[in-house]
Amino acid sequence: MTFDTKLLTSSDDDIREAAEIIKNGGIVGMPTETVYGLAANAEDPDAVEKIFAAKGRPQDNPLIVHLADFSHTKDFVKDIPDIASIMAERFCPGPLTMIFPKKDRIPDITSAGLDTVGIRIPAHKAARKLIEYSGKAIAAPSANLSGSPSPTTAEHVMKDMDGKIPAVIDGGSCPVGVESTVISFENGKIRILRPGFISAEELSEFGEIIIDKHITSAADDNEKVRSPGMKYKHYSPKANVTVIDGDREKYIGFVNSHTGSNIYAMPFDSDEQLCTIPAVPYGDTSEEQAARLFAVLRKFDEIGAEQVYARCPSMDGVGLAVYNRLLRAAGFEVIKL
Ligand code: AMP
Ligand code: MG
Repeated sequence: MTFDTKLLTSSDDDIREAAEIIKNGGIVGMPTETVYGLAANAEDPDAVEKIFAAKGRPQDNPLIVHLADFSHTKDFVKDIPDIASIMAERFCPGPLTMIFPKKDRIPDITSAGLDTVGIRIPAHKAARKLIEYSGKAIAAPSANLSGSPSPTTAEHVMKDMDGKIPAVIDGGSCPVGVESTVISFENGKIRILRPGFISAEELSEFGEIIIDKHITSAADDNEKVRSPGMKYKHYSPKANVTVIDGDREKYIGFVNSHTGSNIYAMPFDSDEQLCTIPAVPYGDTSEEQAARLFAVLRKFDEIGAEQVYARCPSMDGVGLAVYNRLLRAAGFEVIKL
């Protein structure tokens, strides 16, 4: 089915219109503080199927379920460890997804056949209203075509989803810019399955942290991973991206000696002046880099870049999330100088 995709505002009336679409089994582009999501009633298998179809998402990659308040989590999951409730007081609402054993009311298609489900309480006002007005638990992956950079503006969603979904709510640019931190609980320890704005350093106040090895390394074809998303190459623009790991002097020396048509540098803002090849910078601090990363990767598609040399970000704080996304955009191709 094709649609005239309607661009809705974040007004109450428009969000109520989007909520009606959700109640009727449809899907809607929804802003959150992390990235835009593709929202559907998490308990309606037909609605959830529409998300997989619109994205071209592999059927074995589960969806995160979004609720208005952490107190509703118990209705959808079998067991909440004490440590999760304590962490929720600090981080919910916010960009944190916690994995729990699911109750049967979460259909298999939503959890991609796993017996667990990821729960998040988004902080973005429009997302919260959409949950409230629809009265549904909302399943929502990022609203990009599978494999493309995640959308951080309504225009990005339109680019990927125009004609495929009935509506997108425009909530402006997403302030965080990278997807939620995903964690699971293992005998009182906290395993980070996907890094995000809530950093390992912050989480470590609540328990021992295990950083899953696949955050910074590729999984082999037949390797069993704890989070299905780890298997996939994600966030890729059409250009070949290479991560260049070195200090400013070495990075500048490298890019300036790699001239050619459609070759671009992706430096920090403060390196840009020193680049003699065309450059699209992506920020200086880790927070700026998180907020701009996906828009910059999409920009390279617009300008027809064929090769992009990205300066390796810091791995502290939210920098680990930036590195994790960039590494996947680069298909794990890193040159260490
Ligand atoms: P996205 O919806 O695009 O933000 O991707 C959601 C990410 O969360 C994917 O990498 C999933 O593999 C991961 N995820 C969602 N639910 C679970 C779960 N029950 N167990 C492990 N990982 C999950
Ligand atoms: Mg995604």
